Amino acid sequence: MSLWSPLGPPGKRVAPLAENYRETPLWWDDTTFPTLVESPLPATADVVVVGSGFTGLAAAARLGAHGKHAVVVDSSALGEGASGRNAGMVHAGVRRDLDTLERKYGDAGRALHDASVEAYRFVAQTAATAAPDAMYAQSGWLHLAHRRSRMKALRKDEAERRRRLGESTVMLEEDALESEAPCRGFFGGMLTDNGASIHPARYLAGLARLSLASGATLHEHTRVLSIESLHTGSRVHTSRGDITAGDVLVATNGYTDAAAPWARNRIIPIGSYIIATEPLGDARAADVSPQRRMMSDTRNFLHYWRLSPDGRLVFGGRTSFAPVSVRTARDRLYAAMIEIYPQLAGVRVSHAWTGNVGFTFDQLPHLTRSDGITYAMGYCGSGVALGSWMGTLAAEWIAKGARPAFSDLRFPRIPLYRGHPWFLPLVGAYYSLLDQL
Ligand SMILES: Cc1cc2nc3c(=O)[nH]c(=O)nc-3n(C[C@H](O)[C@H](O)[C@H](O)COP(=O)(O)OP(=O)(O)OC[C@H]3O[C@@H](n4cnc5c(N)ncnc54)[C@H](O)[C@@H]3O)c2cc1C
Repeated sequence: MSLWSPLGPPGKRVAPLAENYRETPLWWDDTTFPTLVESPLPATADVVVVGSGFTGLAAAARLGAHGKHAVVVDSSALGEGASGRNAGMVHAGVRRDLDTLERKYGDAGRALHDASVEAYRFVAQTAATAAPDAMYAQSGWLHLAHRRSRMKALRKDEAERRRRLGESTVMLEEDALESEAPCRGFFGGMLTDNGASIHPARYLAGLARLSLASGATLHEHTRVLSIESLHTGSRVHTSRGDITAGDVLVATNGYTDAAAPWARNRIIPIGSYIIATEPLGDARAADVSPQRRMMSDTRNFLHYWRLSPDGRLVFGGRTSFAPVSVRTARDRLYAAMIEIYPQLAGVRVSHAWTGNVGFTFDQLPHLTRSDGITYAMGYCGSGVALGSWMGTLAAEWIAKGARPAFSDLRFPRIPLYRGHPWFLPLVGAYYSLLDQL
């Protein structure tokens, strides 16, 4: 196993660091979130939204548009959840292809797929109007085969996307990769126009402004402790007092805790890690990604990467299914980045950070209701579009009774699971074995 392998022993080589290196998301450096003055919680609200990420804020904005007063509460500050920490890579689709969705779930499966396409459009429209500074760009997506054996599945995927989904796609063989991805270690790839980039924190700030303008109130540093079902509505017990609400939307995804045990037993939080380099300069940036595509590979221990608007390489991955420190993950990611782009050896890392992805046991997102509480979560690493749209659909359901066709899909759980994913090291070992095949 190579010294630079992401799965190799940690701490062998240390990534070179910029002087101003920090372990916070790159995106926070140039985002101004709306200033929220702490105010007492109201005793009542039409709707309490738990979580101020894409899901919660998109929901609050749409609820306001329907004349419902939403009170958004978050245990952290704006941007501290995954919505302010992700890579800003946007796409339509979920982790199951359309054939599988239709075969297993019939019309509900089709409806879920269609919702993901709507979600993709929604981000483009919302960014244009509410967050033009988020620099949304229709960049396309290149998915690269890390083993020759993965080309077969990519070809099937490419054909389905072209024929059934109307995407503009093309397969690139190994010798055609140079113009798209001058990088090492791949045997070809699938290029699709289904991919866009966005500055995620600025997009989130735009959603926050939109929800405030629609009449919502946002309360940071307000942890929900429990939610009590009443005869009509719910009482939300928080660290700063109680709120009685007609409806509650739980939008806590990978940060779901004991306040929402029903969801906690169904969501698997998995850490994902990102590094950003110093700005590469135009020539070097063009040498990394001439077309500025969103890129990812076929590993289960997936790597994903893109250029930032100011020309840094933003390179992310799972690195481990067990929790590791940001420092360890950073060095592993750097090693993986240099394996892919040897020409970047020596380039310094300016930022490294982590966040929680919310996985589910069926690897599908869920918008559903249990015991009168609405839940929207489980985007499995694709929540920029899905979160924004599931929040919006949740608001339509709450305000207008418009129940999405896929809301009946069973949100699975397994016995003995209570939010602590004890099985991840085992799953990780299995997947890393698969990645070698
Ligand atoms: C490193 C990383 C990279 C990613 N890259 C991409 C990408 O490129 N493209 C993509 O589509 N997706 C990506 N994702 C996934 C995406 O960021 C998420 O799916 C999405 O942000 C989820 O939004 P959300 O609003 O549902 O949850 P979050 O933004 O995570 O917000 C949930 C909020 O709930 C709050 N909360 C939890 N419990 C409580 C409580 N008891 N009381 C009050 N508040 C509570 C938390 O504080 C948190 O702020 C990435 C995720 C990570 C971590």
